[in-house]
Amino acid sequence: MSTLLQKLTLDDWNEQYATLHQQGMKEPFYGGPLCRHVLDGDTRLEKLEFDPSPAALRLWNLLLTEEQRLHTARRQGRHIVGTMKDLGTIPVLAHAFPNILPFYPDGAWWTPCIMEMNDALLHVADRLGIDETFCPVRAMLAAFVTQKHFPIPDLLICSAGAVCDDFSAIVQRLHDMGHPVHWWDIPHRREPAPNEVSVQLPGGCIAPQTQITFVASELKRVADALSELAGTPLDLNQLTATIQRINKVRKRLLSLREKVFLASHSPLPALELHIAEMLSIHFCSDLTETEAVLDDLLAEVDRRINTQQGFTSTDAIRVFWVNPVADLRLMNRLENLGGRLCGTDFMFTHAIDPIPESPPPLEALAQSALADPMVGPTQDRARRILRDARTFAAEALVICRIPGASHCATEGPQLADTIRAELGIPCIEIEVPPIEDALDGSIRTKLEALLETARSNRRDR
Ligand code: SF4
Repeated sequence: MSTLLQKLTLDDWNEQYATLHQQGMKEPFYGGPLCRHVLDGDTRLEKLEFDPSPAALRLWNLLLTEEQRLHTARRQGRHIVGTMKDLGTIPVLAHAFPNILPFYPDGAWWTPCIMEMNDALLHVADRLGIDETFCPVRAMLAAFVTQKHFPIPDLLICSAGAVCDDFSAIVQRLHDMGHPVHWWDIPHRREPAPNEVSVQLPGGCIAPQTQITFVASELKRVADALSELAGTPLDLNQLTATIQRINKVRKRLLSLREKVFLASHSPLPALELHIAEMLSIHFCSDLTETEAVLDDLLAEVDRRINTQQGFTSTDAIRVFWVNPVADLRLMNRLENLGGRLCGTDFMFTHAIDPIPESPPPLEALAQSALADPMVGPTQDRARRILRDARTFAAEALVICRIPGASHCATEGPQLADTIRAELGIPCIEIEVPPIEDALDGSIRTKLEALLETARSNRRDR
């Protein structure tokens, strides 16, 4: 006999929090009721629906206390490094230095959503000439100006080359505004020529060895900059140990995804799964707590699978989701309309695939960096989506267009055409702004149509 679990509103969470405390719930140092984050301006929480477990509470609290953690680390004398754009590689290198704490200022991408625009970051970006023709990452530039969020890093590191125009233009502006940037080059991943020595990367793509060697040399330059800041040379044994530790985090995430996507009832809501995946890029500035949060989530998911509990019914439509959502509320919406997540590509699959452990560590990291779905041909990305969509038996595909994002105009149709042709499942593109309220009706209608088409295909099979 299965049980359908109910999500909680923020108000419901107040009661749940009191109940869990009476039952003896222990919380980490950043614990507390979710509603306190609204007082800090995170008002979008009032519109979301949440997983009711202590594991999910811990996940949310880890996410929403990151800025405090960064300021505390600064006060404690640790060096703060802003790693930008590569989503998953440079933090691994930085974690090999005990007195450095890396984070992605890019995470300000979600601030306009979580704060429902009430700190006006996008207006500040407008005034700096970075308007809505750029993607929501422009909020990062504004956060450097207002200095109300993360501390200004001691060192900024950003990948250049095979990156989107949006990010390059914004970081060049940042550089001009007096925030010097250490650039490193990531080339466009290309098909090896016939007979060229090549290597299979994490995730399955192939790259020429010459590109890997080049990226490893670029990472050595980054390591030198980090060494100078840390006051110690890079210890390659320490980097190897860090890679091994981070691979365990990645394996936890892969396991979590697999359990959630394959279970008959979704044992973790789409919203919390999306947040959990985001931990992989820089561990929310706390690697130890990320490990603990993922362990808790895995234990909760196992418990729910064993007791046949979940948040979606067995007939929910299995949806593969491409690209992160600027407005997190859409993850709730998907489930409320009768869908569930069964596969994701939030643009950082290379931050979830384990890093190879046999090559020398800088070369291994170079392989991981080159596996980034955004530095290679769209058809490589389509192949990975296809493979995962088959594994998780996806019945529909959503390509979430990011407003202003330079890559979205061309890649969406290519991805959709490939998946449609190979799997015969319905695919849609929807553009989701940081606050989707004004488009709520049209987004809902498109999602309903997608789910209905998938349902009708299921009946015809
Ligand atoms: S345009 Fe796309 S890849 Fe570039 S920063 Fe924005 S979301 Fe990221």
